[in-house]
Amino acid sequence: MGGANEVGLLAAADFAARKHKGQRRNDAEATPYINHPIAVAALLARVAGVKDLLTLQGALLHDTIEDTETSAEEIEVRFGKAVRRLVLEVTDDKTLPRPDRKRLQVERAAKLTSRARLIRVADKICNLDDMNFTNPGGWSLERKLGYLDWSVEVIGQIRGIHPGLEKLFDTIVAEKRQLLATPQPAEAAP
Ligand code: ZN
Repeated sequence: MGGANEVGLLAAADFAARKHKGQRRNDAEATPYINHPIAVAALLARVAGVKDLLTLQGALLHDTIEDTETSAEEIEVRFGKAVRRLVLEVTDDKTLPRPDRKRLQVERAAKLTSRARLIRVADKICNLDDMNFTNPGGWSLERKLGYLDWSVEVIGQIRGIHPGLEKLFDTIVAEKRQLLATPQPAEAAP
């Protein structure tokens, strides 16, 4: 019964694309935002071998409630209660100040369901991958290091969910740390 899966998966991609319309990522090319949830779902399918429709839908929709005008009810009406619960698991409360949100993400990581853990790890991998660690005009070195340390802390709470994904996460963290430790060449003269 692959058909139902494909319809449900494409419906989630379509829904997320409409919701994130006009939003851009914080990378050097200002990539359309939708590339991110698609990359998270694709990573889960490709690296972790995830075939579970609910997990992949959750991945595609994981930033809709947090970053767009989407309500949990809307997700439930279209995709059901289980998808709503999963998306809420990986949604930060944007009404809280940033330090509180970051602390809560660490504290709650250990309580996540396995589906939410998979999404969380893939999300962190994609975020680190996208982050513009070399852009001199972007975040300060301190903020980049802080983001790396925080990501490591969150993932530290949920290890054991998928060795391959966790290994990929560790590799990316090591790469980024190396990059930050290397002095960047000054911007090329015109
Ligand atoms: Zn995300």
